[in-house]
Amino acid sequence: MALPADYHMHTPLCLHATGEPPEYVQHALKIGLPEIGFSDHSPMQQDNFDEWRMNFDKLSIYVDNVRRAQKDFPQLQIRLAMEVDYFPNGEDWIRELAAMYPWDYFIGSVHYVSDGWAIDDPKKISEWKNRDSFEVWSIYFERLGMAAESELFEIIGHADLPKKFGHRPGPECQPLYERFLDVVKKSGCAIELNTAGLRKDCKEIYPSRQILELAFKKDVPITFGSDAHAPGEVGMNFAEAVELARSVGYTRCCRFKKRQRQIVSF
Ligand SMILES: [Zn+2]
Ligand SMILES: [Zn+2]
Repeated sequence: MALPADYHMHTPLCLHATGEPPEYVQHALKIGLPEIGFSDHSPMQQDNFDEWRMNFDKLSIYVDNVRRAQKDFPQLQIRLAMEVDYFPNGEDWIRELAAMYPWDYFIGSVHYVSDGWAIDDPKKISEWKNRDSFEVWSIYFERLGMAAESELFEIIGHADLPKKFGHRPGPECQPLYERFLDVVKKSGCAIELNTAGLRKDCKEIYPSRQILELAFKKDVPITFGSDAHAPGEVGMNFAEAVELARSVGYTRCCRFKKRQRQIVSF
C-alpha cells in the first residue's frame, strides 16, 4: 500500500515537541513515506500568548531548519508549512505571516473556543463543567467554518478536536457538521485525517467516521497528518487512517506545493 504524505508535524521550536527536523525526516524515510510537511505552531502577534508555540523571533530559524532538511534529504519531498491558530478578528496577522515566506500550505486550526480556553489544554479540562456541551461544539464549529471561509488555509486541522478528552458530540451536533462541511466545500479547503486522536483519551482519529462520511458525500478533499511531536510519531497509525478513508469511499488526497493543490491517489 502506498502511504500518503504526512502533512502535520511539529518541531521543538513550539516548546512542546522533541527531536530535530532531520530525525523526523529519517523516521519518514524509514517507514516509506513519499512526502512530509513541517507544520509547526505559528507565532502570535505578541509572544508569550501561551506556552505552546514558537516566539516570533524563532520563525526565521524554523524556516531555515526546514530548508536545511530539504537540502540534506533530497530523496524526500519536504514541504514548508505552519499550523496556524484561527481567531475571529485575527485574520490580518495570518495574512502577514503568509506574506513572509513562500509557504507550501497553512493548516488552519481552532484550539481556542474563547480567549482563555484552548480546548485541547489538559490544564483546562474542568472548563467543561462550567459550559453547555452543545454550546462549546457550536462555537468550535462556527470558528472552524470561519477559518475555512477566510481563504487563508489549504487544510482545516483536526476537525473535531474538542473530543480529545472524551467529550464526544451528541447527535444534536449533526447540523453543525453539515454547515461546517458545506462551507469547507465552498471554500475549496481540504480537511485532514489526524491520527493524534488515537493517542489521546478519545482513542479515535480526528474527525470521526460520521464527519468523514459526510465530507465524502459533499466531495470535500482530504489530507493525512500524524501531528507528530516526536520523530517516532511521524506517519503513526497511517495504515488505520488510510483504511478509514478508504472505507468511507476516498481513494484520493491532496498535495500542496506553493499553495497549489494537486490531487493524488493513495
Ligand atoms: Zn493542533
Ligand atoms: Zn499540531
